Amino acid sequence: MSCLTHLECPKCGKTYDVDKPQTVCACGAPLLARYDLAAVGRKFKRDDLKGRVASLWRYRELLPVNEDRNVISLGEGMTPMLASSKLGQAVGLPKLYIKDEGLNPTGSFKARGAAVGVSKARELGIRTVAMPTAGNAGGAWAAYAAKAGLGMYVVMPIDAPDLPKKECVASGAVTYLVKGLISDAGKIVGQAAKAQGWFDASTLKEPYRIEGKKTMGLEIAEQFDWELPDAILYPTGGGVGIIGIYKALQEMETIGWIKKGQKWPKLISVQAEGCSPIVKAYREGKNVSEFHTGAQTLAAGIRVPKALGDFLVLEAVRETGGTAISVTDEEILKTMRLVAQTEGMLICPEGAAAVAALPHLVKQGLLNAGERVVVLNTGSGLKYPDLIAIDLPVLEKEAQLEVAAAGEKADGAE
Ligand SMILES: *Cc1c(COP(=O)(O)O)cnc(C)c1O
Ligand SMILES: [Zn+2]
Repeated sequence: MSCLTHLECPKCGKTYDVDKPQTVCACGAPLLARYDLAAVGRKFKRDDLKGRVASLWRYRELLPVNEDRNVISLGEGMTPMLASSKLGQAVGLPKLYIKDEGLNPTGSFKARGAAVGVSKARELGIRTVAMPTAGNAGGAWAAYAAKAGLGMYVVMPIDAPDLPKKECVASGAVTYLVKGLISDAGKIVGQAAKAQGWFDASTLKEPYRIEGKKTMGLEIAEQFDWELPDAILYPTGGGVGIIGIYKALQEMETIGWIKKGQKWPKLISVQAEGCSPIVKAYREGKNVSEFHTGAQTLAAGIRVPKALGDFLVLEAVRETGGTAISVTDEEILKTMRLVAQTEGMLICPEGAAAVAALPHLVKQGLLNAGERVVVLNTGSGLKYPDLIAIDLPVLEKEAQLEVAAAGEKADGAE
């Protein structure tokens, strides 16, 4: 059912066979999956989506897995697109939407990449996968590997948060901590994978997770009934999601799901000030980023000092008339609360970074009140319990509440 034909290097154009496991191009760039899009356009119409499964596997022809029996699914994708007009009004964008990726299995959009990456690994006969991770990717890959029956090795920095460590252990992944950074974990995984014959599934060294993440772009178009929004904001670490959304736009135009000449959404890359290599490269008009030394932000998912696919992120931003912008950790924490208090959503700090960029973009005239704007909340705030500081009043057993602020809510006391 898949129309996958080959893998292609976006830098040098070299092509690779899809019948065996591949990593990066000989030139070092990540590989992109290519499909027979003419065939997809002929046999797969927008209307065919009606009645299909409510997960990312509804876009089967545009995904790389051939046999249904190799599909490993926990129900990922088709996350809700929530009109967030109350928050929107507060930031000057009444037509604001948040696509809530926190409702994916394992609580983040990493489930999309893991579902497709693990399914394809199984199809290719890979038996053991290894990866370095500092968080959500490890939890997601460990879960899907467990369901697929693949062996899974994970190496994490010792100071990574507890929750992803626990997710990996609970799913049966063999998990190691390293006294060092994610890059040190990456080196250890690379060497061990070579020595043991494991597959190294490091970000963008594995060509298929981007195919899972591109389905965010397909879903956004479908959820807006093929009338594309004006802008999409994406909290950018390795950039897999934004590269994927750009790829989805190209593929949808080629197969005729969106009209030629229809304006594409501005793709806006948001980073944390303490780790903003893409923003710096964008401002300086460069096509690649430099390593951000001393990278620091509480939004761990976007703490990536140098991304392998940086040139693709910068291309996606520039070609769509988007921009790249950074926000402070203080703004991120404030925004997590603002979103919870206006929209009832406890979003992740990475998603909050993207929301925090909105008022700046309005002020700079890069977004305006009439535009339909989509923010991707890439994960659930429930995965970051330490970021909500609390200091609560403690009552004696017989105490009576006389606090003014308790007001209305005390009436219907639960
Ligand atoms: C990994 C991650 C990101 C960044 O994703 P990339 O595709 O690497 O840019 C953003 N938010 C969360 C919650 C993540 O886990
Ligand atoms: Zn190449």
